[in-house]
Amino acid sequence: MTKIGLLRCPQNETKCPLTSCLKTMKDGTEGFAGYEGAELAGVFTLAESRDRNVELARILKAKGAEVLHMVTCGFAGKQNGKWYAGNGFIEGPQQLMSDLARETGLPCVLGGAHLPEGYTPIIFGPGTGEPTDRI
Ligand code: SF4
Repeated sequence: MTKIGLLRCPQNETKCPLTSCLKTMKDGTEGFAGYEGAELAGVFTLAESRDRNVELARILKAKGAEVLHMVTCGFAGKQNGKWYAGNGFIEGPQQLMSDLARETGLPCVLGGAHLPEGYTPIIFGPGTGEPTDRI
């Protein structure tokens, strides 16, 4: 069982109660495929400041998170009913998750529910912050 820390965007905080994110985590699909069971360690809404986001990520780690995931609406946008990578709510999502992987020593993944077609979740390796192909 892998404990997941979710990072969500403030723009959707009062519009989406994470319904599909939690369902796909439970089902082990979309951005949460590949885990032999996943459970939620906690959720934070991302702040504007990088340093504050590092603090949030460290708190999730202290609460047991083994991997951090940014929800899909943070790095992907919806057009005509379909999700596309880019135009998400978070500015510089790749840089942020790379920084968090380096600062926390946890793998950090860009991937939640309803992934864009053809998109493979980007994983930033613990400690290095470099993209890697496995957690
Ligand atoms: S990725 Fe989808 S389900 Fe998850 S918080 Fe964003 S809009 Fe909601």
